[in-house]
Parts: sequence; structure tokens; C-alpha cells
Amino acid sequence: MAIQKTDKIWHNGKFIPWEDATLHVMSHVVNYGSAVFEGIRCYALPTGPAILRAPEHMQRLLDSAKIYRIDVSFSRDDLVKAMVELIRSNGIWPCYIRPIVLRGYGEIGVSPFKSPTEVYVINYPWGKYLGHGGPGDDEGVDVCVSSWTRMAPNTLPAMAKSAANYMNGQLIKMEAIINGYVEGIALDASGYVSEGSGENLFLVRQDTLMTAPLGNSVLPGITRDSIIKIARAQGIAVVEQMIPREMLYIADEVFFTGTAAEITPIRSVDKVKIGAGKTGPVTKSIQKEFMGMLTGVVPDRFGWLTPVPVANKQPVGV
Ligand code: PMP
Repeated sequence: MAIQKTDKIWHNGKFIPWEDATLHVMSHVVNYGSAVFEGIRCYALPTGPAILRAPEHMQRLLDSAKIYRIDVSFSRDDLVKAMVELIRSNGIWPCYIRPIVLRGYGEIGVSPFKSPTEVYVINYPWGKYLGHGGPGDDEGVDVCVSSWTRMAPNTLPAMAKSAANYMNGQLIKMEAIINGYVEGIALDASGYVSEGSGENLFLVRQDTLMTAPLGNSVLPGITRDSIIKIARAQGIAVVEQMIPREMLYIADEVFFTGTAAEITPIRSVDKVKIGAGKTGPVTKSIQKEFMGMLTGVVPDRFGWLTPVPVANKQPVGV
């Protein structure tokens, strides 16, 4: 989907025009992928715009920066405030928010220490990520197991949401698309199920919800955490355990989770039909609460929504 521009971008504590948020081609980040970032959604509730799990996302951004020894001079709360103010000022929602911390224009050696840290927060309208967005969505998407492996431990840290990790993600995604699938599932370096190019993965087998532990090279997804908490609150047994590839084929239900993907049911893996080939009851029950909360139909019992104060509560596109 093409990016739709908004008026302003937040840069190092100030609002600048969208067009002015440019970088020199010799910036450290362009040459070496030295950036960490976030993907956050702001939903349109009847009460007005609300950001899902705002502090948790900004905390993960700071965690990712810390892993890469990037000093950020803004606190988690500063960044949450910047995001709220940006959405309010641009007046566009529902939207996707992209905070990014990068190493800018300074020196061109591999050492990033002499390149300045730049912090940006951008917001823009964005719709559904996976699936067709139509009635057929109930059936789920067709995916494959990728021939590309997720980064091995001690190579690129999977717990950091770094730009460089998405070179691996691109290989997974391109291979899947070229072979006629919507997404690929990567295994980790030992051959256990890890995650999609931009999603965590869950499966249901014998009434237990399973997802790979963080040690299997997965991003600590905020949606992953939300799904685990919702499932436990609904009395569903949840385990974080190593998942062999073949468990995917014999699962009753499989789904992706992510800020962009939300909860995307999977109807086949490598052309093997999953369960009845349509969204299963556990997925539906969790989806109902998760999406219900984001449309204002179900109360926000976990306190996950940060309201954006606006005068007009109606959603506004560009
Ligand atoms: N794994 C990867 C590789 C991702 O890019 C994402 C999207 N941020 C996820 C998992 C899901 O994370 P979250 O629920 O925090 O969006």
C-alpha cells in the first residue's frame, strides 16, 4: 500500500513538515541498517481515537535501542506524549504510527558512535495487512514454511526490532509471494517454528494455545502478549513451548498476530489444510474480545488504550 502523507512529522522533539524529514544517502542507517523502530496502531473508537498499548511499544523501542547501544534522550513517557500530540495535530485516524530511532549522518565507518541519533515519529492512515479484507477473510490465509531461517542467536538479536532484521524478513516475504502464498513462516536455526516475516505465530492443539518462546528467535510481540493475556483471562490453557514444524500441519487452528496483521487466521500451511480450513473456535473467541475492544464493543479490561484528545470524535482520513 502506498504511503499517504500527513502534515507533520515529530523529529527530535519538534514538529517538522512531512517533506522535510529527509536523510543524506551517506547516513549510517542507509549504509548499515542502523535503526530500530516500532509499528503501532491508533483505532477509531466511538469515544474518539485511541492508541493500543502505547507505553509498551515505546518501551520496546527503548529496549531495542539499548541492545544496540543507542542513547535516546527521550523517556518512554516523552515518546508516548509525542505520539499523542502528533495524531492530534495531524488529525488523521485510524492510523499506523512509525517511531524510528536511527544513526544519522556523521562518519561512514562501521562504528556508529560518531553518527548522531535521530528520533522520528510518523503517523499515516493504513488498513488491513494480511487477508483480503472481504467476507472470505473468515477462511484465513494460505502460507508456507520458508526455506529461509530466522536469524540464529548470537547473530542479529531477535528481541530488538531493528531495521536490519527486516532484510531476513524480506527474503521470507518475497519467497512466499513469488510462490503464491500470502506469508512465510520461518523456522529458527535449530529447525523449530519461529515466526512470520512480520508476525508472531500461535497454534491450537487439543484445546491448548501454543506459541514459540522468545528463545526461538521471535520478536517479543506486543500483540503476542495481548493474546496470551486475553486467552488466559478467558480460561484457555496457554503454553510457550518449542514447536516442531510438523505440529503446524496437525494443529486444529493456526493464526498470526501482530500490530499490522492483528489476528489473521491461517487456513493452510504448505497446502496442508489446517483443521476444518476456516477460522476455529479458539481463534474466534480471542478475536472477538480483541477486535471488540478496538471497536469499543467490549470494555478495555486491561487498560490497554491511550485516548487521543480531539474535539471531533469522528474518524478522519487524508
Ligand atoms: N514478529 C515480527 C518479525 C514483526 O515484525 C512483528 C511486527 N512488529 C511481530 C512479530 C508482531 O509484533 P507486534 O505484535 O508487537 O506488532
